[in-house]
Amino acid sequence: MTDWSKQTKAVHTGIRRSQYGEVSEAIFLTQGFVYDTAEAAEARFLQSGPDEFIYARYGNPTVAMFEDRIAAIEGAEDAFATASGMAAVNGALMSMLKAGDHVVSARALFGSCLYILEEILPRFGVEVTFVDGTDLSAWEAAIRPDTKAVFFESLSNPALEVIDIAAVSDLAHAHGAMVIVDNVFATPVFSNAIAQGADVVVYSATKHIDGQGRALGGVILGTTDYIRKTVEPYLKHTGAAMSPFTAWMLLKGLETMSLRVRAQAATARTLAEALASRTRTIYPGLPDHPQHALTMTQMGSGGTVLSIDVGSKETAFRTLNALKIFTISNNLGDAKSIVTHPATTTHQRLPDEQKDALGITPGLIRISCGLEDAGDLLADLQSALT
Ligand SMILES: *Cc1c(COP(=O)(O)O)cnc(C)c1O
Repeated sequence: MTDWSKQTKAVHTGIRRSQYGEVSEAIFLTQGFVYDTAEAAEARFLQSGPDEFIYARYGNPTVAMFEDRIAAIEGAEDAFATASGMAAVNGALMSMLKAGDHVVSARALFGSCLYILEEILPRFGVEVTFVDGTDLSAWEAAIRPDTKAVFFESLSNPALEVIDIAAVSDLAHAHGAMVIVDNVFATPVFSNAIAQGADVVVYSATKHIDGQGRALGGVILGTTDYIRKTVEPYLKHTGAAMSPFTAWMLLKGLETMSLRVRAQAATARTLAEALASRTRTIYPGLPDHPQHALTMTQMGSGGTVLSIDVGSKETAFRTLNALKIFTISNNLGDAKSIVTHPATTTHQRLPDEQKDALGITPGLIRISCGLEDAGDLLADLQSALT
Protein backbone atom coordinates (compact mmCIF):
# COMPACT_ATOMS: atom_id res chain seq x y z
CA MET A 1 0.00 0.00 0.00
CA THR A 2 2.86 2.38 0.72
CA ASP A 3 4.09 1.77 -2.85
CA TRP A 4 0.86 3.11 -4.29
CA SER A 5 0.92 6.45 -6.05
CA LYS A 6 -0.93 9.42 -4.51
CA GLN A 7 -3.86 8.92 -6.89
CA THR A 8 -4.41 5.29 -5.87
CA LYS A 9 -4.16 6.20 -2.20
CA ALA A 10 -6.66 9.03 -2.79
CA VAL A 11 -9.26 6.47 -3.84
CA HIS A 12 -8.56 3.53 -1.55
CA THR A 13 -6.65 4.42 1.62
CA GLY A 14 -8.38 4.59 4.97
CA ILE A 15 -11.62 2.75 4.17
CA ARG A 16 -13.33 1.30 7.27
CA ARG A 17 -16.23 -0.80 5.97
CA SER A 18 -19.16 -1.55 8.24
CA GLN A 19 -20.78 -4.99 8.49
CA TYR A 20 -22.86 -4.08 5.39
CA GLY A 21 -19.87 -3.94 3.05
CA GLU A 22 -20.84 -0.60 1.49
CA VAL A 23 -18.79 0.57 -1.53
CA SER A 24 -18.91 4.30 -0.77
CA GLU A 25 -17.58 5.34 2.62
CA ALA A 26 -20.30 5.46 5.29
CA ILE A 27 -21.21 8.64 7.15
CA PHE A 28 -21.21 7.87 10.86
CA LEU A 29 -23.39 10.76 12.00
CA THR A 30 -23.05 9.98 15.64
CA GLN A 31 -21.82 12.04 18.56
CA GLY A 32 -20.88 9.04 20.67
CA PHE A 33 -20.48 5.26 20.88
CA VAL A 34 -22.09 2.65 23.13
CA TYR A 35 -20.41 0.13 25.38
CA ASP A 36 -21.84 -3.32 26.09
CA THR A 37 -20.73 -3.25 29.70
CA ALA A 38 -19.26 -0.90 32.28
CA GLU A 39 -16.01 -2.83 31.95
CA ALA A 40 -16.03 -2.21 28.19
CA ALA A 41 -16.55 1.54 28.81
CA GLU A 42 -13.62 1.55 31.20
CA ALA A 43 -11.43 -0.26 28.64
CA ARG A 44 -12.51 2.11 25.86
CA PHE A 45 -11.43 5.13 27.91
CA LEU A 46 -8.02 3.46 28.30
CA GLN A 47 -8.00 3.67 24.48
CA SER A 48 -6.74 0.14 24.09
CA GLY A 49 -6.79 -1.11 20.52
CA PRO A 50 -7.63 0.40 17.15
CA ASP A 51 -10.95 2.05 16.29
CA GLU A 52 -11.76 2.63 19.92
CA PHE A 53 -13.96 5.67 19.45
CA ILE A 54 -15.34 7.44 22.51
CA TYR A 55 -16.82 10.77 21.52
CA ALA A 56 -16.92 12.61 18.19
CA ARG A 57 -14.92 15.55 19.55
CA TYR A 58 -12.03 13.06 19.99
CA GLY A 59 -12.57 11.05 16.84
CA ASN A 60 -15.19 9.47 14.57
CA PRO A 61 -14.92 6.64 12.00
CA THR A 62 -15.74 8.86 8.99
CA VAL A 63 -13.35 11.54 10.17
CA ALA A 64 -10.68 8.87 10.78
CA MET A 65 -11.08 7.64 7.19
CA PHE A 66 -10.40 11.17 5.96
CA GLU A 67 -7.40 11.55 8.30
CA ASP A 68 -5.86 8.25 7.20
CA ARG A 69 -6.38 9.03 3.51
CA ILE A 70 -4.93 12.54 3.54
CA ALA A 71 -1.98 11.36 5.68
CA ALA A 72 -1.22 8.65 3.10
CA ILE A 73 -1.41 11.13 0.21
CA GLU A 74 0.85 13.62 2.00
CA GLY A 75 3.34 10.98 3.15
CA ALA A 76 2.77 11.90 6.81
CA GLU A 77 2.61 9.40 9.65
CA ASP A 78 -0.59 10.78 11.11
CA ALA A 79 -3.24 13.50 10.82
CA PHE A 80 -5.86 15.32 12.89
CA ALA A 81 -8.88 16.83 11.11
CA THR A 82 -10.36 20.14 12.23
CA ALA A 83 -13.48 22.22 11.69
CA SER A 84 -11.69 24.71 9.41
CA GLY A 85 -8.30 25.57 8.01
CA MET A 86 -7.83 28.24 10.66
CA ALA A 87 -8.57 25.72 13.43
CA ALA A 88 -5.72 23.66 11.92
CA VAL A 89 -3.28 26.59 11.80
CA ASN A 90 -4.22 27.65 15.33
CA GLY A 91 -4.11 24.07 16.65
CA ALA A 92 -0.73 23.31 15.06
CA LEU A 93 0.82 26.40 16.69
CA MET A 94 -1.01 26.73 20.03
CA SER A 95 -0.70 23.04 20.90
CA MET A 96 3.11 23.20 20.82
CA LEU A 97 3.87 26.73 22.09
CA LYS A 98 4.04 28.27 25.54
CA ALA A 99 4.89 31.67 27.01
CA GLY A 100 8.55 32.54 26.44
CA ASP A 101 8.85 30.63 23.18
CA HIS A 102 10.11 32.27 20.00
CA VAL A 103 8.64 31.78 16.52
CA VAL A 104 9.94 32.99 13.15
CA SER A 105 7.32 33.48 10.46
CA ALA A 106 7.26 34.61 6.86
CA ARG A 107 5.61 38.01 6.52
CA ALA A 108 3.45 37.20 3.50
CA LEU A 109 0.52 35.30 4.99
CA PHE A 110 -3.22 34.80 4.62
CA GLY A 111 -4.98 37.49 6.70
CA SER A 112 -6.20 35.16 9.48
CA CYS A 113 -2.82 33.39 9.76
CA LEU A 114 -1.24 36.81 10.20
CA TYR A 115 -3.79 37.63 12.92
CA ILE A 116 -2.80 34.53 14.92
CA LEU A 117 0.94 35.25 14.66
CA GLU A 118 0.74 39.03 15.03
CA GLU A 119 -2.09 39.45 17.54
CA ILE A 120 -2.89 36.22 19.41
CA LEU A 121 0.47 34.52 20.06
CA PRO A 122 2.11 37.68 21.52
CA ARG A 123 -0.83 38.00 23.94
CA PHE A 124 0.23 34.65 25.41
CA GLY A 125 3.88 35.63 25.71
CA VAL A 126 5.12 34.09 22.46
CA GLU A 127 7.60 36.30 20.62
CA VAL A 128 7.19 36.30 16.84
CA THR A 129 9.81 37.60 14.38
CA PHE A 130 8.61 38.24 10.81
CA VAL A 131 10.95 37.86 7.84
CA ASP A 132 10.85 38.09 4.07
CA GLY A 133 10.24 34.39 3.47
CA THR A 134 12.06 34.34 0.14
CA ASP A 135 15.30 35.64 1.74
CA LEU A 136 17.27 32.74 3.25
CA SER A 137 19.72 35.09 4.98
CA ALA A 138 16.76 36.72 6.77
CA TRP A 139 15.65 33.31 8.09
CA GLU A 140 19.21 32.52 9.13
CA ALA A 141 19.52 35.82 11.02
CA ALA A 142 16.13 35.45 12.75
CA ILE A 143 16.26 31.80 13.87
CA ARG A 144 17.84 31.57 17.33
CA PRO A 145 18.78 28.74 19.69
CA ASP A 146 15.47 29.33 21.56
CA THR A 147 13.33 29.35 18.39
CA LYS A 148 10.65 26.73 18.84
CA ALA A 149 8.96 26.85 15.44
CA VAL A 150 9.08 28.45 12.02
CA PHE A 151 5.89 29.07 10.07
CA PHE A 152 5.26 29.95 6.44
CA GLU A 153 2.94 29.47 3.49
CA SER A 154 4.98 27.54 0.92
CA LEU A 155 3.19 29.53 -1.79
CA SER A 156 1.93 32.78 -0.34
CA ASN A 157 -1.48 34.36 -0.64
CA PRO A 158 -2.03 36.51 -2.74
CA ALA A 159 1.47 37.60 -3.87
CA LEU A 160 2.43 34.02 -4.85
CA GLU A 161 5.92 34.06 -3.37
CA VAL A 162 7.48 30.61 -3.16
CA ILE A 163 9.47 29.64 -0.08
CA ASP A 164 12.24 27.06 -0.18
CA ILE A 165 10.96 24.33 2.15
CA ALA A 166 14.18 22.29 2.14
CA ALA A 167 16.50 25.25 2.77
CA VAL A 168 14.37 26.84 5.53
CA SER A 169 13.94 23.40 7.15
CA ASP A 170 17.73 22.91 7.23
CA LEU A 171 18.18 26.28 8.95
CA ALA A 172 15.38 25.58 11.45
CA HIS A 173 16.51 22.04 12.24
CA ALA A 174 20.05 23.27 12.95
CA HIS A 175 18.49 25.02 15.98
CA GLY A 176 16.01 22.26 16.81
CA ALA A 177 13.00 24.32 15.65
CA MET A 178 9.90 22.66 14.19
CA VAL A 179 8.91 23.58 10.64
CA ILE A 180 5.17 24.22 10.17
CA VAL A 181 4.05 24.77 6.57
CA ASP A 182 0.66 26.08 5.48
CA ASN A 183 0.47 24.30 2.15
CA VAL A 184 -2.95 25.39 0.89
CA PHE A 185 -1.79 27.00 -2.36
CA ALA A 186 0.64 24.17 -3.12
CA THR A 187 -2.16 21.58 -2.70
CA PRO A 188 -1.58 17.96 -1.58
CA VAL A 189 -1.31 17.05 -5.29
CA PHE A 190 1.87 19.06 -5.88
CA SER A 191 3.22 18.89 -2.31
CA ASN A 192 6.29 16.96 -1.23
CA ALA A 193 6.67 19.13 1.88
CA ILE A 194 7.32 16.34 4.41
CA ALA A 195 9.90 14.69 2.14
CA GLN A 196 11.47 18.14 1.65
CA GLY A 197 11.92 18.63 5.41
CA ALA A 198 8.69 20.06 6.88
CA ASP A 199 7.72 18.58 10.26
CA VAL A 200 4.10 19.69 10.12
CA VAL A 201 1.85 20.47 7.16
CA VAL A 202 -1.52 22.19 7.53
CA TYR A 203 -4.29 22.49 4.96
CA SER A 204 -7.52 24.35 4.71
CA ALA A 205 -9.56 21.48 3.24
CA THR A 206 -12.13 24.13 2.31
CA LYS A 207 -10.00 24.86 -0.75
CA HIS A 208 -8.82 22.20 -3.24
CA ILE A 209 -9.60 19.15 -1.07
CA ASP A 210 -13.33 19.83 -1.13
CA GLY A 211 -12.90 21.82 -4.33
CA GLN A 212 -16.61 22.37 -4.73
CA GLY A 213 -17.32 25.15 -2.27
CA ARG A 214 -19.48 23.03 0.06
CA ALA A 215 -17.75 22.84 3.40
CA LEU A 216 -15.18 24.27 5.80
CA GLY A 217 -12.50 21.88 6.99
CA GLY A 218 -8.85 21.62 7.91
CA VAL A 219 -6.17 19.10 8.75
CA ILE A 220 -2.85 18.98 10.60
CA LEU A 221 -0.32 16.39 9.39
CA GLY A 222 2.86 15.26 11.13
CA THR A 223 4.51 12.45 13.04
CA THR A 224 2.35 10.15 15.15
CA ASP A 225 4.21 11.44 18.20
CA TYR A 226 3.37 15.11 17.46
CA ILE A 227 -0.22 14.43 16.39
CA ARG A 228 -1.12 12.12 19.30
CA LYS A 229 0.92 13.69 22.14
CA THR A 230 0.74 17.39 21.23
CA VAL A 231 -2.11 18.13 18.80
CA GLU A 232 -4.77 15.62 19.88
CA PRO A 233 -4.86 16.61 23.59
CA TYR A 234 -5.16 20.30 22.63
CA LEU A 235 -7.85 19.80 20.01
CA LYS A 236 -9.94 17.17 21.73
CA HIS A 237 -10.29 19.41 24.78
CA THR A 238 -10.78 22.70 22.90
CA GLY A 239 -13.33 21.35 20.45
CA ALA A 240 -12.59 22.35 16.83
CA ALA A 241 -13.65 18.88 15.61
CA MET A 242 -14.56 18.13 11.99
CA SER A 243 -18.14 17.06 11.35
CA PRO A 244 -18.50 13.46 10.05
CA PHE A 245 -20.64 14.80 7.20
CA THR A 246 -17.85 17.18 6.20
CA ALA A 247 -15.31 14.34 6.44
CA TRP A 248 -17.43 12.30 4.03
CA MET A 249 -17.58 15.17 1.50
CA LEU A 250 -13.82 15.62 1.80
CA LEU A 251 -13.20 11.87 1.29
CA LYS A 252 -15.13 12.13 -1.97
CA GLY A 253 -13.20 15.33 -2.73
CA LEU A 254 -9.88 13.53 -2.30
CA GLU A 255 -10.87 10.91 -4.89
CA THR A 256 -11.13 13.53 -7.66
CA MET A 257 -8.65 16.09 -6.28
CA SER A 258 -5.71 15.19 -8.51
CA LEU A 259 -7.79 15.34 -11.70
CA ARG A 260 -9.32 18.65 -10.69
CA VAL A 261 -6.12 20.30 -9.47
CA ARG A 262 -4.09 19.27 -12.53
CA ALA A 263 -6.80 20.65 -14.84
CA GLN A 264 -6.99 23.88 -12.80
CA ALA A 265 -3.20 24.29 -12.91
CA ALA A 266 -3.17 23.75 -16.69
CA THR A 267 -5.79 26.49 -17.04
CA ALA A 268 -3.84 28.82 -14.73
CA ARG A 269 -0.79 28.37 -16.93
CA THR A 270 -2.78 29.04 -20.12
CA LEU A 271 -4.31 32.22 -18.66
CA ALA A 272 -0.98 33.43 -17.26
CA GLU A 273 0.82 32.92 -20.57
CA ALA A 274 -1.92 34.73 -22.48
CA LEU A 275 -2.30 37.66 -20.05
CA ALA A 276 1.42 38.31 -19.47
CA SER A 277 1.75 40.39 -22.65
CA ARG A 278 -1.14 42.65 -21.69
CA THR A 279 -0.93 43.24 -17.92
CA ARG A 280 1.47 42.53 -15.05
CA THR A 281 0.95 38.82 -14.34
CA ILE A 282 2.24 36.92 -11.33
CA TYR A 283 2.34 33.15 -11.75
CA PRO A 284 5.09 30.90 -10.36
CA GLY A 285 4.80 28.70 -13.46
CA LEU A 286 5.99 31.56 -15.72
CA PRO A 287 9.75 31.75 -16.32
CA ASP A 288 9.83 35.44 -15.26
CA HIS A 289 8.62 34.65 -11.72
CA PRO A 290 11.48 35.29 -9.26
CA GLN A 291 11.20 31.77 -7.78
CA HIS A 292 10.28 29.95 -10.99
CA ALA A 293 13.16 27.43 -10.82
CA LEU A 294 12.44 26.67 -7.14
CA THR A 295 8.72 26.28 -7.92
CA MET A 296 9.43 23.67 -10.55
CA THR A 297 11.78 21.62 -8.32
CA GLN A 298 9.59 22.00 -5.22
CA MET A 299 6.11 21.55 -6.73
CA GLY A 300 6.57 20.65 -10.41
CA SER A 301 3.75 23.07 -11.24
CA GLY A 302 2.89 26.74 -10.86
CA GLY A 303 -0.36 25.88 -9.04
CA THR A 304 -3.97 26.81 -9.65
CA VAL A 305 -3.90 30.52 -8.78
CA LEU A 306 -2.48 33.53 -10.61
CA SER A 307 -2.59 37.22 -9.81
CA ILE A 308 -2.71 40.16 -12.18
CA ASP A 309 -2.15 43.85 -11.47
CA VAL A 310 -4.36 46.15 -13.50
CA GLY A 311 -2.98 49.36 -12.01
CA SER A 312 -5.70 50.82 -9.79
CA LYS A 313 -8.62 49.91 -7.57
CA GLU A 314 -11.02 51.52 -10.07
CA THR A 315 -9.75 49.38 -12.96
CA ALA A 316 -9.73 46.29 -10.74
CA PHE A 317 -13.36 46.85 -9.71
CA ARG A 318 -14.40 47.57 -13.30
CA THR A 319 -12.69 44.33 -14.42
CA LEU A 320 -14.34 42.26 -11.66
CA ASN A 321 -17.76 43.71 -12.42
CA ALA A 322 -17.42 43.07 -16.17
CA LEU A 323 -16.61 39.35 -15.79
CA LYS A 324 -19.42 36.97 -16.76
CA ILE A 325 -18.01 33.52 -15.90
CA PHE A 326 -15.72 34.32 -12.97
CA THR A 327 -17.46 34.67 -9.61
CA ILE A 328 -16.49 37.47 -7.25
CA SER A 329 -15.77 35.63 -4.01
CA ASN A 330 -12.91 34.79 -1.68
CA ASN A 331 -12.61 31.01 -1.85
CA LEU A 332 -10.04 29.31 -4.05
CA GLY A 333 -9.52 25.84 -5.48
CA ASP A 334 -13.23 25.67 -6.34
CA ALA A 335 -14.70 24.14 -9.51
CA LYS A 336 -16.00 27.64 -10.22
CA SER A 337 -13.35 30.18 -11.21
CA ILE A 338 -13.18 32.94 -8.64
CA VAL A 339 -11.74 36.46 -8.66
CA THR A 340 -10.81 38.31 -5.48
CA HIS A 341 -9.64 41.86 -4.82
CA PRO A 342 -7.37 41.18 -1.81
CA ALA A 343 -6.75 44.84 -0.88
CA THR A 344 -10.44 45.43 -0.10
CA THR A 345 -11.44 41.94 1.12
CA THR A 346 -9.09 39.23 2.48
CA HIS A 347 -6.34 41.73 3.41
CA GLN A 348 -8.52 44.83 4.02
CA ARG A 349 -7.55 44.91 7.73
CA LEU A 350 -3.88 45.64 6.99
CA PRO A 351 -2.52 49.20 7.04
CA ASP A 352 -1.45 50.54 3.63
CA GLU A 353 2.31 50.28 4.37
CA GLN A 354 1.91 46.60 5.23
CA LYS A 355 -0.14 45.98 2.07
CA ASP A 356 2.64 47.64 0.04
CA ALA A 357 5.30 45.49 1.71
CA LEU A 358 3.31 42.35 0.87
CA GLY A 359 2.69 43.33 -2.74
CA ILE A 360 -1.05 43.76 -2.16
CA THR A 361 -1.40 46.68 -4.54
CA PRO A 362 -4.71 48.48 -5.25
CA GLY A 363 -4.82 46.95 -8.75
CA LEU A 364 -4.08 43.35 -7.70
CA ILE A 365 -6.67 40.71 -8.66
CA ARG A 366 -6.30 37.12 -7.48
CA ILE A 367 -7.62 34.57 -9.95
CA SER A 368 -8.44 31.04 -8.79
CA CYS A 369 -8.91 28.83 -11.83
CA GLY A 370 -11.84 26.44 -11.81
CA LEU A 371 -12.95 23.64 -14.09
CA GLU A 372 -14.56 25.65 -16.88
CA ASP A 373 -13.11 25.62 -20.42
CA ALA A 374 -9.84 27.58 -20.46
CA GLY A 375 -10.76 29.26 -23.75
CA ASP A 376 -14.04 30.55 -22.32
CA LEU A 377 -12.24 31.85 -19.23
CA LEU A 378 -9.60 33.62 -21.29
CA ALA A 379 -12.20 35.24 -23.53
CA ASP A 380 -14.09 36.42 -20.43
CA LEU A 381 -10.93 37.96 -18.95
CA GLN A 382 -9.81 39.57 -22.22
CA SER A 383 -13.20 41.13 -22.72
CA ALA A 384 -13.40 42.39 -19.11
CA LEU A 385 -9.88 43.88 -19.39
CA THR A 386 -10.92 45.68 -22.57
C1 LIG B 1 -8.20 29.74 3.37
C2 LIG B 1 -6.87 29.65 3.99
C3 LIG B 1 -6.73 29.36 5.35
C4 LIG B 1 -7.92 29.20 6.27
O1 LIG B 1 -8.78 28.17 5.94
P1 LIG B 1 -10.34 28.16 6.36
O2 LIG B 1 -10.77 26.80 5.96
O3 LIG B 1 -11.00 29.27 5.62
O4 LIG B 1 -10.40 28.38 7.84
C5 LIG B 1 -5.46 29.27 5.86
N1 LIG B 1 -4.36 29.46 5.09
C6 LIG B 1 -4.46 29.74 3.77
C7 LIG B 1 -3.23 29.94 2.97
C8 LIG B 1 -5.72 29.84 3.18
O5 LIG B 1 -5.82 30.14 1.87
